[in-house]
Amino acid sequence: MGADIMKTCLPQELLLKRRAEILHALCSSGSAEHLERVMDMLLAQGELGWEDCQNVLVPGRALYSNARQLLDLVYTKGADSCELFFSAVKQVLPEALGDALFLSGCHSTLDYTEKPQRTSTEELLSQRSDLVLKLQGCIDGALRALVESGHFSSTDCDGIQLPIYTPSQQARRLLDLVRSKGESASLAVLQFVQQSLESESSLEQTNPNLTNEFVKYQKKLKSSVSAQSRFLSTYGGTSHMPLDDIYTEVQMELPSNSSDNYKSMSFEEIIGPVGTVNDDADTVLASGEAGSGKSTWLQRLHLLWAQGKALQDFLLLFPFSCRRLNSEQRDLSVQELLFQHCCWPDRGQEEIFQFILDHPHLVLFTFDGLDELKQSFADEQRICCPSQRAPVHVLLFNLIQGSLMKGVRKVVTSRPEAVGPALKKHLHKEIHLKGFSPSGIDCFMRKHHSDPNEAAKVLESLQANTALLGLCHSPVLCWIVSQCHKELLGCGEGSLQTITDVYLMILQHFFQHHSTVKSSIGVNWLQENLGTVLHLGQLAFEGISNSSYIFSVTDMETRGVTESDICMGFLIQSKDMSLANSKCYEFLHITLQCFLAALFAILSRNSGCSAISKLFELQEMKKKRLRGTCFGACLNSTNTPNIAEEHSTMAETPNLQITATFVSGLLSQRYQKLLFQCSSSVLVERKTKHAEKCLSKGMQQHFRSIPQPVQGEKKSMHAMPEFVWLIKCIYEMQNSRLAKDAMSKLEAEHLKLTYCNIGPVECTALAYVLQHLKNPVGIQLDNNSVGDVGVEQLLPCMHICSSLYLRNNNITDEGIRKLIDKVIHLQNFQKIALFNNRLTDACTKHFSYLLKTRQNFLSLRLGNNNITAEGAKQLAEGLKFNHSLQYLGLWGNKIGDEGAEALANALQNSESIVWLSLVGNGVGSAGACAISNIIRNSTSLEDLWLTENCITRTGVESLTQALKHNHHVKSVWLKNNDLTSAEIEEMEQIESRLVF
Ligand code: ADP
Repeated sequence: MGADIMKTCLPQELLLKRRAEILHALCSSGSAEHLERVMDMLLAQGELGWEDCQNVLVPGRALYSNARQLLDLVYTKGADSCELFFSAVKQVLPEALGDALFLSGCHSTLDYTEKPQRTSTEELLSQRSDLVLKLQGCIDGALRALVESGHFSSTDCDGIQLPIYTPSQQARRLLDLVRSKGESASLAVLQFVQQSLESESSLEQTNPNLTNEFVKYQKKLKSSVSAQSRFLSTYGGTSHMPLDDIYTEVQMELPSNSSDNYKSMSFEEIIGPVGTVNDDADTVLASGEAGSGKSTWLQRLHLLWAQGKALQDFLLLFPFSCRRLNSEQRDLSVQELLFQHCCWPDRGQEEIFQFILDHPHLVLFTFDGLDELKQSFADEQRICCPSQRAPVHVLLFNLIQGSLMKGVRKVVTSRPEAVGPALKKHLHKEIHLKGFSPSGIDCFMRKHHSDPNEAAKVLESLQANTALLGLCHSPVLCWIVSQCHKELLGCGEGSLQTITDVYLMILQHFFQHHSTVKSSIGVNWLQENLGTVLHLGQLAFEGISNSSYIFSVTDMETRGVTESDICMGFLIQSKDMSLANSKCYEFLHITLQCFLAALFAILSRNSGCSAISKLFELQEMKKKRLRGTCFGACLNSTNTPNIAEEHSTMAETPNLQITATFVSGLLSQRYQKLLFQCSSSVLVERKTKHAEKCLSKGMQQHFRSIPQPVQGEKKSMHAMPEFVWLIKCIYEMQNSRLAKDAMSKLEAEHLKLTYCNIGPVECTALAYVLQHLKNPVGIQLDNNSVGDVGVEQLLPCMHICSSLYLRNNNITDEGIRKLIDKVIHLQNFQKIALFNNRLTDACTKHFSYLLKTRQNFLSLRLGNNNITAEGAKQLAEGLKFNHSLQYLGLWGNKIGDEGAEALANALQNSESIVWLSLVGNGVGSAGACAISNIIRNSTSLEDLWLTENCITRTGVESLTQALKHNHHVKSVWLKNNDLTSAEIEEMEQIESRLVF
């Protein structure tokens, strides 16, 4: 073939004659793509070698020079090379350009006839240009496959994925590296490409209408989402941790479906039907406290989608950050919002948007941090038309509530405070993120420290400090503690206890990290870095007061933030998916912004006590105040232009509370020395006194709100949301005098703290304060996330606890072991309720011991756990020796006949048991007959619950017989057993105390 063309076209001559045109055609777009594709083809044909390639594609050299080099090379190689070169150019260039160049009628083709392939490496080379095309849309997947098969390391991947390379260049680099790794790596790539082709064709079969433009857009969106979500940037913006390497499952709670609580759920399950509360709504809300891992969880969702590993039923995913949407000043239509803020379609915009409108169920929107939006959710201004322009928050609210883009699934994250009833009614379902489980902490530490010995040491020191371990349930604190492991290992047991301790540690750690003197930083470390602290503190403080979390370069300059302040690592450059952007910064985490704001409120000589007062104001009062004035005005500082316009939403309240908590911690006695180095001691002392006064006043306001008891009932305080916060502030301050003072004024006998978001950290604070109560109280903590670590934290206040209610709190046998170990000798402790936890037979031996030992113990409720006949037998052992228990609840366990018989045997002569529930335990007639003995002999039993079992006529007859001899029993509940309606009618007539 070569010889023929030589005769007609004289390729070498042609190359010389057309040199300028060829160069222009290859290079005028400014992109190296054409040139590189030509090289791919020549390489594949064996016409060029690797060395030739290196000589042509010299990094940093002008594109035209590289192209000239190639032309020279093929010219010197001879006519065959020139001929192949022309063929390649013709294939690579767009039709019009190619035709213009080759008008002379040179119709050469490259020889693609199948040659027998010996090895995968050879195949990789011969199919190079095809592979580049195929791989460029799925680099992530290919890299992952190579890492998983052990051919690539993460450093290899990083080298390929550098953002300076275009997707096709990344594909070429991947192929080059694979070649150097040998035959098996080449085979892995070929297999990967084959598989992804197959899955693509199956996708096309299920979605036959996808146009080329759509598929291109989808690829672009995926690679942009992947680029945005691949790394976690929590180290000073300098080093990035791949999300895949660090992501640790967080605990989740589906409030509407308690059986699935605390299991981790796949994203499919979260979007799917489980736990749905409103079928008409499209919005799934994931709520959690600051630092509970909401953004990271959403980032994980994005990444798994982009990697093709989750939620593949959604063809498009549009991720939004509410923080960033705040800075959009223009009115936008939905189309503009999607395309300008997420990913711009290079072509076919209308067609792609129409697809979205036509197929809403194939599209997913995510909104991170609804609480950070300047406007609170409102359902006032309705928009239904996707082309209508409106302020971004209005669009967002209409999207969430479904009047816009109905059918598109939305996933929203928010702190719980920002979720009011107006929003709740538009929720498809809600899940709560509950931070790491104990094994999650373990797993995170092992992922964060590549050296297993180091991880083990960190974990060991955590086990020795349960207050700190409690803090680590919060992912952000877990990260900080792990990050500061050196400082942690160096300090003795118990020296790190409060959240403020942890944040001061990270502050010191960052300064140390950037200290020019690499040894250790001195005792004056805060003073030495005071400039930075005040600059960043002011930025943080004013941001908190204005709900601003993103700062422009001008914002920073006006607050004196310098380049070297930025280098410390507390600020990271703001990620943004939109196109036009100037540089912006945000704090590593919102809690760090609050901490620096707190430092500023204390250390700034310009801020007096009024800033402290405002931080501690209770919410109701604050609401009124915010309507009137801007919080930032409490600072006398000059020229502080508004970072954001003034507004009066409540979104900032949680941040003000976190800041106040840090202020309390910093004003603790043990940090006075440190603060005195940096500010006037008189001022610091004045602020301390003032904060103490605010806290004590806040507590009193709560106590004053306790209503008088209804006659015959205990005086009970139902905690307002801020009670827990005030308690946490007192704990941070480590001020036992304040705790004692406050508790001496509390007169309630029962403290109700249900649904208060109480986790281990809050338990530590509660115990610190409640231990000073004068008289025993009932502590009701139902429906929180206390867990085993929380139970351990509560131990110091158990001596003043008369009854402990811990329904639905994720507690296991281990938590019970520790609890009973403590309360066994505490005479005040008389009742416990543990409905719906994770207890098994293993906990019953501890209760048995408690029952044997404590002859004034009154009530044991263990419903809805996993207790079987074995557990019931253990309990029976204790019951035999107990003379005080009045209430025994085992509803919803699995004790069966055998367990019922054991309990009946132990209780049959009881003079104390008043109420016994074996509802839903698989008890049949044998069990019922045994229980009849309790009725027959016990002098105290009043209520017997046997609903939802499998008792037949024989069992009921036995109960009826027994009742003949007993006049104390008021009712025996037998609904839903194995009886016919005729039998029920008959029995009712015989014994009216039987309830069917
Ligand atoms: P939130 O959005 O709830 O305030 P983030 O998602 O920003 O919390 O989490 C704060 C930090 O905690 C992250 O930067 C990361 O270091 C760590 N983190 C959170 N969730 C996880 C997780 N699932 N796995 C590993 N680290 C996490």
